[in-house]
Amino acid sequence: MRIAFLGPPGAGKGTQVELVSREYGVSVLSTGDAFRAMMKGEDKLAQKVRSYVEKGELVPDGVVFEIVREFVDNKDSFILDGYPRNLRQAELLDDFLEVKGLALTGVVNILLDEDEIVKRLTGRLVCPQCGRVYNIYYSPPHKDEVCDDCGVPLERRIDDEDDVIRQRIKVYHREMKPVVDFYQRKGLLFNVDGTGDIHEVFERIKKVLDGK
Ligand code: ADP
Ligand code: ADP
Ligand code: ZN
Repeated sequence: MRIAFLGPPGAGKGTQVELVSREYGVSVLSTGDAFRAMMKGEDKLAQKVRSYVEKGELVPDGVVFEIVREFVDNKDSFILDGYPRNLRQAELLDDFLEVKGLALTGVVNILLDEDEIVKRLTGRLVCPQCGRVYNIYYSPPHKDEVCDDCGVPLERRIDDEDDVIRQRIKVYHREMKPVVDFYQRKGLLFNVDGTGDIHEVFERIKKVLDGK
């Protein structure tokens, strides 16, 4: 199983990919998580990455692909969360995998409308210690804004601010149309309705993935 998950910010990619990873025993690379880990540093690269992420812009393709290439290299099973984000990234990945004879086996595209995206993102809280993701509307922690597992105060992501959310949605729609067409032409694209609770969405995804 070699799968990429697409979908607008807040569609539930991270949430679903974790369930998929556990169900099928496949390892995941989230490029967003990789960048958030990098941004904890103070070096040049951390500053560079931060300058894009905090504005809701895409990190340059070369920087992203370096991370992705290392992860997928010689794996016959993997899941990508948040990659590709534009046509160039899709082509870079495709060329790399083709040569190895390990092309993607499917692309899951989670669909969600803008009002629901904004609600999910403005409600998102993340544990800075373990990375667990909560939502103040849908899946709040037991105690006020504190991680159930670690007991530390939850944080909002730096890019889950109203104006940055709008910018990310704009960038997504601008860049992703050709990517969706690219995978559609290859017969790899599976659209999944992202509305409803986490388990409803997961059931839809499992139907797509069984046999991939
Ligand atoms: P993405 O990785 O696509 O940005 P996340 O998985 O981080 O999305 O989900 C965004 C926010 O919405 C999080 O706060 C998460 O808890 C919440 N969420 C995810 N899936 C659902 C769902 N099906 N219903 C309600 N809230 C959800
Ligand atoms: P979401 O799906 O909630 O927008 P991610 O966690 O996937 O968030 O990404 C957060 C940010 O990290 C993006 O807005 C972008 O700045 C950067 N990023 C993540 N993946 C990529 C990628 N494939 N290419 C370029 N930038 C990326
Ligand atoms: Zn925690």
